Amino acid sequence: MEKETYFVFEKWNPKRFVRIHRDECSSCFYGRGTQKLAKRVSCKWNGPYGTLEEAEGKARSIPASEVLFCKLCFPEKFDKP
Ligand SMILES: [Zn+2]
Repeated sequence: MEKETYFVFEKWNPKRFVRIHRDECSSCFYGRGTQKLAKRVSCKWNGPYGTLEEAEGKARSIPASEVLFCKLCFPEKFDKP
C-alpha cells in the first residue's frame, strides 16, 4: 500500500494564501505544480508531508496567510449538505 503524502502550496500574488493538496491531485503533480514558468516568482510548494496534521501545521505556521484546502483533493471539506 502506498503511503499518501500532502503538499502545501504557498502563493503571494495577487492574494496571499496557502492551499493544502494530496499528492495525487491533478493540480499538484507531486509538488511540481502545473505552472510551466521558468521562474516561480510568487509561489512555492512545501512538502511532501507524511500526514495531513503535519501539512496543516506547516500551513498555519506561515504568517498572514489564509489556509485553504484544494476542492479537488478534499471534496469532503466542501461537502456541506
Ligand atoms: Zn489538489
